[in-house]
Amino acid sequence: MDREILKIKQKLEKERNEIERILKEIHYENISTDVLSEDEIADIYEKNKESEALENDLVKRITKINRALEKINDGSYGICDSCGKKIEKERIHLDPASIECSTCSNK
Ligand SMILES: [Zn+2]
Repeated sequence: MDREILKIKQKLEKERNEIERILKEIHYENISTDVLSEDEIADIYEKNKESEALENDLVKRITKINRALEKINDGSYGICDSCGKKIEKERIHLDPASIECSTCSNK
Protein backbone atom coordinates (compact mmCIF):
# COMPACT_ATOMS: atom_id res chain seq x y z
CA MET A 1 0.00 0.00 0.00
CA ASP A 2 1.52 3.33 -0.94
CA ARG A 3 2.08 6.12 1.51
CA GLU A 4 -0.60 8.42 0.19
CA ILE A 5 -3.29 5.77 0.50
CA LEU A 6 -2.06 4.81 3.94
CA LYS A 7 -2.43 8.44 4.99
CA ILE A 8 -5.95 8.59 3.58
CA LYS A 9 -6.81 5.37 5.36
CA GLN A 10 -5.65 6.74 8.70
CA LYS A 11 -7.56 9.96 8.10
CA LEU A 12 -10.76 8.07 7.30
CA GLU A 13 -10.38 5.79 10.32
CA LYS A 14 -9.86 8.80 12.54
CA GLU A 15 -12.98 10.47 11.18
CA ARG A 16 -14.95 7.27 11.66
CA ASN A 17 -13.91 7.05 15.30
CA GLU A 18 -14.92 10.65 15.81
CA ILE A 19 -18.35 10.07 14.26
CA GLU A 20 -18.87 6.93 16.34
CA ARG A 21 -18.12 8.96 19.45
CA ILE A 22 -20.67 11.64 18.47
CA LEU A 23 -23.30 9.00 17.68
CA LYS A 24 -22.82 7.48 21.13
CA GLU A 25 -23.28 10.90 22.70
CA ILE A 26 -26.50 11.49 20.77
CA HIS A 27 -27.91 8.20 22.00
CA TYR A 28 -26.89 8.92 25.54
CA GLU A 29 -28.70 12.25 25.45
CA ASN A 30 -31.82 10.67 24.07
CA ILE A 31 -32.07 8.32 27.02
CA SER A 32 -32.33 11.01 29.68
CA THR A 33 -36.01 11.91 29.96
CA ASP A 34 -36.32 13.06 33.55
CA VAL A 35 -38.25 16.18 32.61
CA LEU A 36 -41.64 17.30 33.80
CA SER A 37 -42.91 20.53 32.27
CA GLU A 38 -44.51 20.54 28.86
CA ASP A 39 -42.10 23.21 27.71
CA GLU A 40 -39.20 21.04 28.63
CA ILE A 41 -40.70 18.07 26.89
CA ALA A 42 -41.29 20.18 23.77
CA ASP A 43 -37.71 21.33 24.03
CA ILE A 44 -36.41 17.79 24.27
CA TYR A 45 -38.60 16.80 21.37
CA GLU A 46 -37.14 19.59 19.25
CA LYS A 47 -33.64 18.62 20.22
CA ASN A 48 -34.33 15.00 19.40
CA LYS A 49 -35.57 16.01 15.99
CA GLU A 50 -32.39 17.97 15.46
CA SER A 51 -30.15 15.19 16.66
CA GLU A 52 -32.09 12.74 14.53
CA ALA A 53 -31.28 14.80 11.45
CA LEU A 54 -27.67 15.04 12.58
CA GLU A 55 -27.61 11.33 13.24
CA ASN A 56 -28.90 10.60 9.75
CA ASP A 57 -26.16 12.73 8.26
CA LEU A 58 -23.53 11.06 10.38
CA VAL A 59 -24.75 7.58 9.56
CA LYS A 60 -24.66 8.47 5.86
CA ARG A 61 -21.14 9.79 6.26
CA ILE A 62 -19.94 6.74 8.16
CA THR A 63 -21.43 4.44 5.52
CA LYS A 64 -19.46 6.32 2.89
CA ILE A 65 -16.28 6.17 4.94
CA ASN A 66 -16.70 2.44 5.47
CA ARG A 67 -17.17 1.93 1.74
CA ALA A 68 -14.08 4.02 0.99
CA LEU A 69 -12.05 1.95 3.47
CA GLU A 70 -13.40 -1.21 1.89
CA LYS A 71 -12.27 0.11 -1.50
CA ILE A 72 -8.80 0.78 -0.11
CA ASN A 73 -8.64 -2.82 1.09
CA ASP A 74 -9.86 -4.38 -2.15
CA GLY A 75 -7.71 -2.10 -4.31
CA SER A 76 -10.54 -0.23 -5.99
CA TYR A 77 -9.94 3.03 -4.16
CA GLY A 78 -10.14 6.04 -6.50
CA ILE A 79 -12.43 4.21 -8.91
CA CYS A 80 -16.06 5.27 -9.18
CA ASP A 81 -18.51 2.78 -7.66
CA SER A 82 -21.14 3.54 -10.29
CA CYS A 83 -19.38 3.88 -13.65
CA GLY A 84 -15.97 2.34 -12.93
CA LYS A 85 -14.06 5.38 -14.16
CA LYS A 86 -11.34 7.12 -12.21
CA ILE A 87 -12.54 9.60 -9.62
CA GLU A 88 -11.08 13.08 -10.17
CA LYS A 89 -7.98 13.74 -8.07
CA GLU A 90 -9.31 17.09 -6.84
CA ARG A 91 -12.44 15.37 -5.68
CA ILE A 92 -10.54 12.86 -3.60
CA HIS A 93 -8.41 15.67 -2.32
CA LEU A 94 -11.51 17.54 -1.14
CA ASP A 95 -13.15 14.46 0.32
CA PRO A 96 -11.07 11.31 0.79
CA ALA A 97 -14.28 9.35 1.34
CA SER A 98 -15.35 9.93 -2.28
CA ILE A 99 -16.66 6.72 -3.76
CA GLU A 100 -18.16 8.17 -6.94
CA CYS A 101 -16.92 10.50 -9.65
CA SER A 102 -18.49 13.95 -9.88
CA THR A 103 -20.69 12.97 -12.83
CA CYS A 104 -22.26 10.02 -11.00
CA SER A 105 -22.68 11.76 -7.67
CA ASN A 106 -24.50 14.64 -9.35
CA LYS A 107 -27.02 12.32 -10.94
ZN1 LIG B 1 -18.88 7.63 -12.07
